[in-house]
Amino acid sequence: MTIIDFHTHAFADALAGRALAKLAANSGLGHALDGTVGALRASMRRAGIGRSVVCPIATRPHHYAGIRDWAREVRASAPDLEMLVSVHPDDPQAAAHLEEAAADGFKGVKFHPYYQGFSVDEPRMRPLYEKIRDLNLMVVVHCGFDIAYPHDRWCNPAKIARLAEDFPGLKLVATHFGGWMDWEESARTLLGRPIWLDASMASPFLPPERVREMALAHPEEYLLFGTDSPWTDQSAEVAFWKSLDLGDGFLHGFFGGNAERLLASAGLPA
Ligand SMILES: [Zn+2]
Repeated sequence: MTIIDFHTHAFADALAGRALAKLAANSGLGHALDGTVGALRASMRRAGIGRSVVCPIATRPHHYAGIRDWAREVRASAPDLEMLVSVHPDDPQAAAHLEEAAADGFKGVKFHPYYQGFSVDEPRMRPLYEKIRDLNLMVVVHCGFDIAYPHDRWCNPAKIARLAEDFPGLKLVATHFGGWMDWEESARTLLGRPIWLDASMASPFLPPERVREMALAHPEEYLLFGTDSPWTDQSAEVAFWKSLDLGDGFLHGFFGGNAERLLASAGLPA
């Protein structure tokens, strides 16, 4: 079985040092890797992870092109990385950029409301969600609070649940069990529903029994292994999930089967 890590970050070599230092200073989180593609791939080999989804974030509207060019370059030399792209909600060309990304074979985009300054339920987001759905792209959304920002409710679990309701057919992936540090609201509004959740950043912040309970409360075919590497260590996360005694059937889907199915169904036909 190929283990797929659905939530990782990496940066262009020339930017990685500065980007990681800044992010680490804002979050107070340690990092297991130096933020480069090379370090991520070495970590994958150590952890037995065969494929990682890399989630860049356009923190400014004009970042799209640079991210696209870098993502193209990386995927040409690293077939084990599934590169997403990112558009900024304030990008006047956002819709055209989504079309271009889909035509270019990308399978999805990442949104991060805190880093991009928007709330997921803003009316201006609607045409973008529609476009993403019509292009059959995945949209991976940061959910819950963010360690580096005040606790505004821009992407809390209840809003994510509404987003899924408002856009049936949208390939929505809600990160961090649907709500980082908003676990109880996620348990009330998202767990148990047919919505893709990645399980990243739960293990460092919750007791293992609670993580296990949340995992079992969700339809198992909709749960995805993710680490948020470099912010956690991929090998440690693989070991953590194996230690929870969830059974082989569960782990087969969680570690890779579910992600494989989702990735195979996303994007425009080649
Ligand atoms: Zn992340």
